[in-house]
Amino acid sequence: MSYQKIIKSQQEFFYSNTTKPISFRKKQLKKFLKLLKDNEEDLNKAIYKDFKKSAFENYATELSLLYAELSHSIKKLPVWSKKNYVTTNLANLPGSSFIMPEPLGNTLIIGAWNYPYLLTLHPAISAMAAGNTMILKPSELAMNTSKLMAELINNNFDSNYFHVIEGGVAETTELLKLKFDKIFYTGSTAVGKIMMKAAAEHLTPVVLELGGKSPAIITKGASLKMAAKRIVWGKFLNGGQTCVAPDYLMVDKTIKPKLIEEIKKQIEKIHGNDAQKSEAFVRIINPRHFKRLEKLLNKQKIIFGGQTDENDLYISPTLMDNVSWDDAVMQEEIFGPILPILEYEDLDDAIKQIKQKPKPLALYLFTNCYKIRDRVFNEISFGGGALNDTIMHLANPNLPFGGVGNSGTGNYHGKYGFDIFSHHKSIIQKANWFEPFMKYPPYNSFKLKLLKKLM
Ligand code: NAD
Repeated sequence: MSYQKIIKSQQEFFYSNTTKPISFRKKQLKKFLKLLKDNEEDLNKAIYKDFKKSAFENYATELSLLYAELSHSIKKLPVWSKKNYVTTNLANLPGSSFIMPEPLGNTLIIGAWNYPYLLTLHPAISAMAAGNTMILKPSELAMNTSKLMAELINNNFDSNYFHVIEGGVAETTELLKLKFDKIFYTGSTAVGKIMMKAAAEHLTPVVLELGGKSPAIITKGASLKMAAKRIVWGKFLNGGQTCVAPDYLMVDKTIKPKLIEEIKKQIEKIHGNDAQKSEAFVRIINPRHFKRLEKLLNKQKIIFGGQTDENDLYISPTLMDNVSWDDAVMQEEIFGPILPILEYEDLDDAIKQIKQKPKPLALYLFTNCYKIRDRVFNEISFGGGALNDTIMHLANPNLPFGGVGNSGTGNYHGKYGFDIFSHHKSIIQKANWFEPFMKYPPYNSFKLKLLKKLM
């Protein structure tokens, strides 16, 4: 079926109002949850084929979050979708006022490869809960997971409601010519601009979940052992291919040697002396990204790791010290297992440096000083983050997830996801027994006086 035909059938289906009842949406969410759970083994196999991601990590960082989001949405849907009554102002009395969430209509969701299930299916859950139809376009770079998502969804849902279209740039370019009511895109900032331009043609609202260089600041007095544990986990999870991974460290000079020692110990503790043999260490997605990352390695600055094996698309967990903003590794989002370490003498100066860069998707602060916490969180703009941890903010469905500025626009998860796929319709409901006469011409000074009093 042509893309045009699919979207036309989705438009007709949406206009039939079938997706609107809460009972329908709940039924689909339950069906979706069952479909994923029933096929967990295949989902594990496909992602292992894509980049050797283990079943444990697939569950911990993708499937469990999808199951939780589905269960949360099923439970909360009646509350989220309720009419919300608000106070009515004097000029509108006698009457009442309410806000009514309604589905936007036909949505296009374009996913990234690094968490191929999570980043494609999580927004689809929000769109489904909000009562929309969905077309998903998973990333072609994770081809096994893309194929499996297409098989599972297209064999179990009607194409006029929920459908997967596979493909790369050519297919996405064709899709973007069509009119949708919302485009939800996860990926690079460069391609985000292409999405926004294409959407502007149809005045389609977009959500852009982009990337950037997310710093981790470690101050004097921080709990270094715990900081090292959480930094190593967040950085090397998924082979460093995580949008919210700490991209680089900005460390107080006086504690840097101790922190580095703890980080090295922690890497060896979880991955052994040779991470290539570790069950839990993910590979680089493809040769292009492998070569890109290899170019960022500066042998003179490597203080740990630095081993590569192109045949296995393996790059070991690597630390680079004495890095400055001029190094190649600081010119782009790393998106791989390389951790550059920058040092500072004065926190003011560190804050200033970070503020001069594009607003990051995440920021992590390791400190035991609440004054510093308040300063950093107030002064630096970033999507979201954590105090004394990395990444975990995205695992709380009560927190909105998204970027700001170059790292994205719009956010989702839980109620925020429901809201971003809904239109919030405002309604004034009037009584028929009174109507203010001064609203109507002919106007005079008495009417104006009354109006001024009322307003
Ligand atoms: P990408 O932008 O290359 O690809 C993402 C999607 O866009 C894919 O489905 C791809 O087919 C499509 N695409 C690529 N080029 C296109 C073009 N020219 N025209 C139309 N469509 C095109 O991104 P990626 O490499 O898959 O992901 C890495 C980036 O995504 C990183 O910057 C990372 O930080 C970011 N990211 C952000 C989040 C988030 O939630 N904010 C999550 C994961 C990844």
